[in-house]
Amino acid sequence: MDFVKISIGDIVEMKKEHPCIHRCKLFEVVRIGADVKLKCQACGHVVMLDREAFNKKLRKIISEK
Ligand SMILES: [Zn+2]
Repeated sequence: MDFVKISIGDIVEMKKEHPCIHRCKLFEVVRIGADVKLKCQACGHVVMLDREAFNKKLRKIISEK
């Protein structure tokens, strides 16, 4: 399975919104390793997904650094 190419600082849109009051779908990539850490652009909370889950839940990359 190929992983989507992303780098730190990329803004990504996910298929599911963050379950915070803002219902934001945009996240900033803050860490890439075995897991990907994403920061909600509305509330600043960081969520962690493994690479496979990230690939499945990613809709598109909004901006690349
Ligand atoms: Zn949020």
